[in-house]
Amino acid sequence: MEYVESVVDLVGNTPLVRLNAVAEGLKPLVLAKVEYLNPGGSVKDRIALRMVEAAERSGALGPGGTIVEPTSGNTGVGLALVAQQKGYKCVFVCPDKVSVDKRNVLKAYGAEVVVCPTAVAPEHPDSYYNVSDRLVAEIPGAWKPNQYANPENPASHYHGTGPELWRQTEGRITHFVAGVGTGGTISGTGRYLKEVSEGRVKVVGADPEGSVYSGGSGRPYLVEGVGEDFWPDAYDRTVCDEIVAVSDADSFELTRRLAREEGLLVGGSCGMAVAAALRVAEKCGPDDVVVVLLPDGGRGYLSSVFNDQWMAQYGFMAPDSTGATVGDVL
Ligand code: PMP
Repeated sequence: MEYVESVVDLVGNTPLVRLNAVAEGLKPLVLAKVEYLNPGGSVKDRIALRMVEAAERSGALGPGGTIVEPTSGNTGVGLALVAQQKGYKCVFVCPDKVSVDKRNVLKAYGAEVVVCPTAVAPEHPDSYYNVSDRLVAEIPGAWKPNQYANPENPASHYHGTGPELWRQTEGRITHFVAGVGTGGTISGTGRYLKEVSEGRVKVVGADPEGSVYSGGSGRPYLVEGVGEDFWPDAYDRTVCDEIVAVSDADSFELTRRLAREEGLLVGGSCGMAVAAALRVAEKCGPDDVVVVLLPDGGRGYLSSVFNDQWMAQYGFMAPDSTGATVGDVL
């Protein structure tokens, strides 16, 4: 019989898929590491599993313990899934701007969701930062993974994603491109690939225009999950050879092309990473192998990136090309 003991055993070992249409005319082989095939639907399952296992070993998380994290996105899903299988409770704290659908995903896995007002300053007692700290202090056996500062976040990529890519490409990878959020993916994977290749693999971070990694001041952008307005501890500044800034418009155009032309329904940060990877590939030769990591799937973006009216509202599509006006219920 062929089966795994639990869904947790399916984390990692995601496939590489060649990008054909979007990379047409470019000399190198361009491969995508498809992370939505993790059981929770994103790359964050990797860090969730490793952070929880490390906390169990250190004793920070014990039987009957509760995981408390301010997150509403992919990290929450990964933690909820791992926690449930290992018998821990989960409380996620999120601002009220987070969609009801996202909250319901976390609840579906059995997590509790505490919603805080967005319209208060970070130092306000009801801000989501303060509420999560208070819950950690008040709940007996509570543990906060803190993905921005937890060394197990980059470590999950150093021990997982990096070795997988080296094995899958038989050591022929020449460039690794990934979006930078907490910095865990690029720092851990990049560091492993540099070490194993003795510095031959080039590591390129993709960043939304406006974010600190590409020299911005934290100005707003619409791509989700990447870019920051501060420098997290999980980001190792010595790993990236280059940071490529990508506009929202380019990110979303490529995200939609990945669905339409490659059959990959993925999130907006994937289009951003691919836009950066194609710029890298333009400067490469036929023996190069460019790998770009796609962090999550596109189902969470059906009412934004994949909605014509939303795209038109922000000026990424001409209003008349959508066949409807903003506000129409379709
Ligand atoms: N894309 C998405 C959709 C994400 O949720 C994240 C994680 N914040 C990233 C990219 C960036 O990954 P990392 O945090 O490892 O830098």
